[in-house]
Amino acid sequence: MKIAGIQKVTLLDFPGKVACTIFTQGCNFLCPFCQNSSLIDINKDGEISKEELFAYLNLRKKILDGVVITGGEPLIQKDIKNLLRAIKELGLLIKIDTNGSNPELLMEIIKENLVDYVAMDIKNTFDKYEKTIGKKTNLENIKKSIDILKKSKIDYEFRTTVSKELHSLEDIKEICTIVGKESKYYLQNFEDSPDVIDHSLHGFSHDELLLINKYLKESFPNVEIRALS
Ligand code: SF4
Repeated sequence: MKIAGIQKVTLLDFPGKVACTIFTQGCNFLCPFCQNSSLIDINKDGEISKEELFAYLNLRKKILDGVVITGGEPLIQKDIKNLLRAIKELGLLIKIDTNGSNPELLMEIIKENLVDYVAMDIKNTFDKYEKTIGKKTNLENIKKSIDILKKSKIDYEFRTTVSKELHSLEDIKEICTIVGKESKYYLQNFEDSPDVIDHSLHGFSHDELLLINKYLKESFPNVEIRALS
């Protein structure tokens, strides 16, 4: 288990909960808009031991509602289930952020009640997926993960980081069709930062996002723009 770091307390990452965020090291995608690109390298070691993590969680378990596990991609960590079990034994809720590339493990942790909330990225329409993640991937796995979440009884959301260069309005509408009217679906605007891989990308303007939201809402009432400032 490679833990790159923790954010001791967050009110933003787990909807309605006070949480600690755990960042895992390593990802199997190479998204040009990744805000955590220093966490992509699979060969890099973690910086925090499980002992250090659990010393903190034990100390703070009474003020925390839960833990968010993000990355990197948490579901490529070989011993992730042991981590989830140990967190559950503390009585904490668990949210996992995933890119959806490991549907078998996703199914297992849902069936074994090791997760309470899943946020899955849908990077783009399937036609544009590999361009958007910077790598080849098995699209069937992404489709299976979407299906697993839609059929599950746990709380979940889908989300897409949108940029002008990678996402047209028609692409976003097509992703809405993929996630369906019943699913919570969030659009997150691309923001440049030192950790981003491709600095030539641009987010949409405030007004453009409002127009996109208005257009989509007519058919997809559960679409929201996240963190529109
Ligand atoms: S899947 Fe997430 S962590 Fe991995 S490269 Fe893409 S944005 Fe970064």
